Amino acid sequence: MEYEGRICRGPMERASYMLPISVGCSYNACRFCMLFRHLTYRELPLEQIEQELDRVKSAGGAPQTVYLGDGNAFGADQARLLRVIESVRGRFPGVKRFNMDATVTDIAKKSDAELRELASLGVDRLYLGVETGLDDVLAFMNKDHRTMAEAERQIARLRAAGMSWAAHIMTGVAGHGRGEENAAALAAFLNRTRPAAIVNFSLFLHRRAPLWRDVEAGRFAPASEQENLREQHRLLELLESEDCDFDGMLDMIQVRVRGRLMRDKAKMLRKSSEAAARFDQEPEIFSIVP
Ligand code: SF4
Repeated sequence: MEYEGRICRGPMERASYMLPISVGCSYNACRFCMLFRHLTYRELPLEQIEQELDRVKSAGGAPQTVYLGDGNAFGADQARLLRVIESVRGRFPGVKRFNMDATVTDIAKKSDAELRELASLGVDRLYLGVETGLDDVLAFMNKDHRTMAEAERQIARLRAAGMSWAAHIMTGVAGHGRGEENAAALAAFLNRTRPAAIVNFSLFLHRRAPLWRDVEAGRFAPASEQENLREQHRLLELLESEDCDFDGMLDMIQVRVRGRLMRDKAKMLRKSSEAAARFDQEPEIFSIVP
């Protein structure tokens, strides 16, 4: 199957079988996001999905974890998700779990009974773009969920149904001078909601994204990569999660800090301190892409 869009999935899913069931993101309106901006959201026909499954089966594939794509695969209605799961299981009985991206509002649209049904069929982990710990940042960035309280409510529902979740976050999302505040709010949120994994993609400033107009108009002051490093460091200091994978990627300055909390916390903090000391000697760097 030809993939449309830009692949963006947590590194924890690199070994999973990526099966697109849709193209783009049905929300597609976060101010910073350019992943699917050029695409009109559509669901792929089931026949096309099944042809892809047949292709992988005839090539000898035997996946254990299936990662359903794309931007918010969990937003598909219940009947469609059940049908996709059935098609996969019919060909690959050894599949143990289904993981996928979701928005907070995708969870809100499903009933508790639907969530339990999906969990019982192997839907295991949802990746949620919580991005920040601050309500005003959610609103400014036009996230589909407008409050952290709403995110917390929906995470509690999916956990009660038997699923786990992973957090996509972005240092720099609160802008220049607010890294410490964001780290404190986000750490408190993550310590309460206990994700199985935390992935920091850090904020990229795309010149074609709506956020860039805010930068040009002075409504959003970007944080430098040096600030983002310090924000990530503070977040790590405050995290108390046990059994949680952490992967922080500041790609513009090629600093990656990863490990398992709490086991590797001291090691990660050491690496991040060393990187911060190194980059503090340099002029400010901003993660701007054309
Ligand atoms: S929900 Fe995710 S994929 Fe969709 S626009 Fe927002 S950040 Fe991008």
